[in-house]
Amino acid sequence: MAATSDAYPHYWAILDRLPIALFYKESAKAEIFANMAARSLLGETLPDKPLSLPQLSDIRILDQHQNKVSLLSNPLLMALGGTTLRQQVLLEINGAPTLYMLQSDLIKLQFSLGNTIIVTLHPLQSPANAGAAHAHPTPFATPSADIAELEEALAFDKLMSLISTELINVSSDALDQHIEDALAALGGFCHADRSYIFQFSDNISEMSNTHEWVRDGVSAHKDNLQHIPEHALPYFFEKIHRDHIFAVSDVSKLPAEAASERQEFEHEDIRSVLCIAMLAGQKLIGFVGCDMVARQRNWTSNDLRRIKLVGEMIANSIQNVNYRVSLQQIQQELLTANQELQKQANQDGLTGLANRRNFDEKLTEELQRSARSKLPLGLILLDIDLFKPYNDHYGHQAGDAALQQVATALKKEARRQGEVAARYGGEEFALILPDSDIKACLEVAERVQQHIEALQIQHCQSDVADYLTVSIGCYSIIADKNTSSEHMLSKADQALYQAKAAGRNTIISAG
Ligand code: GH3
Ligand code: MG
Ligand code: MG
Repeated sequence: MAATSDAYPHYWAILDRLPIALFYKESAKAEIFANMAARSLLGETLPDKPLSLPQLSDIRILDQHQNKVSLLSNPLLMALGGTTLRQQVLLEINGAPTLYMLQSDLIKLQFSLGNTIIVTLHPLQSPANAGAAHAHPTPFATPSADIAELEEALAFDKLMSLISTELINVSSDALDQHIEDALAALGGFCHADRSYIFQFSDNISEMSNTHEWVRDGVSAHKDNLQHIPEHALPYFFEKIHRDHIFAVSDVSKLPAEAASERQEFEHEDIRSVLCIAMLAGQKLIGFVGCDMVARQRNWTSNDLRRIKLVGEMIANSIQNVNYRVSLQQIQQELLTANQELQKQANQDGLTGLANRRNFDEKLTEELQRSARSKLPLGLILLDIDLFKPYNDHYGHQAGDAALQQVATALKKEARRQGEVAARYGGEEFALILPDSDIKACLEVAERVQQHIEALQIQHCQSDVADYLTVSIGCYSIIADKNTSSEHMLSKADQALYQAKAAGRNTIISAG
């Protein structure tokens, strides 16, 4: 049947009266209809009859840059030229009015002129039905069922847009609640008894029921539907893998090869099932489904549309949350790795004490602090006595072990907040002692000396003692802004030199 305006008087009457601009393409036909509002929106450039795509391509409109462009170059019209439309497209004419179209088999248009109105229309009747309508023209007596359906579709879309807005930035904690809300909306609007989400394991060898909504009085099955292996429901798995849809209006009519599925459904008294795959990119991550329990239902194209919408929405949200969680994990790992690097950059490899670089930084910081607070800052330099003969006799490895023991002793003795034990060089160590006058420094030095003595590290080559000893130089100052690290170090070093000269195993403080 040729599609002319005569063939669709019923729809034209309705569409032309709507105060919104509508473009409509019957999926089976090549013509595109523009209602009166759309025609006047385009400045009457469209004739009031269905247009072919080539005819449309001759029409020019002004784009947002005031250039004359082909109407057909616009994404909306390109979408009308295709069979299905998955993405939201936008038509801007002269920069102001805006049209969005979401689906070609079911028009959903958003027309914005200052205020925004969202209008959803169900698919217009097939040409066969249209003929029947033409035979009994009832331009104004739109059946009330249609109105109810329109209102229901509008309500569903509103609800979905609300849920999907909330889902965009949903935290992983709130995700479950939002998924359950979406399932309840789906189940309610599709007049189903149960709606649910299954998610596949990573290798898609098994699936688990992660979310479920049930109508009052219908039993829930989620807990019994965990880790279901592929081989338990081979027919279903294959369908959902290959076709991404499993739509069964009458379970009793399932083919013989679906015996396991049929048994499973009948066991739960399920009469009709509708499942749609959820994809993350190309990857199958699960499916969303609806069941009819104890009563059968022929699924409609609206049910299909709704379940697709909910499936896409949930798949996107799961993916977003997963991205965010793995991003957080990566950020945490990076942070830990950075902290580890930072630690390594500041640490002496052999002893784990602060290294020279870190020591220099800390000493400068503490000098500034002392200059501000007028509290004394203490510095201890410590050198192992006769360590060269120790190494020569016991070997380098034993030398390293002795250095580690001395370092541990220092760490234990410099345990007050802000105190720093550092390896200053080969067998020389340093302690920074904030808020310590020379008396306090000497006390720490004595504790360190005794601690090392108590280790009783045998040193048969020493003429000072039978065990390893240390010489220590101490210095303390209330710094001012001119006090330098070099000054402190040179003072403590002089004291250390004197300790060596005084026979080693000695503590000297610089005045
Ligand atoms: P003094 O009592 O005058 O300090 O005599 P000393 O032998 O300790 O002094 P000297 O400076 O002559 O020798 C220091 C030795 O420390 C030389 C070197 O073999 C040893 N040494 C420095 N760093 C390390 C290290 O990382 N591991 C080992 N095993 N030995 C080290
Ligand atoms: Mg030395
Ligand atoms: Mg030495």
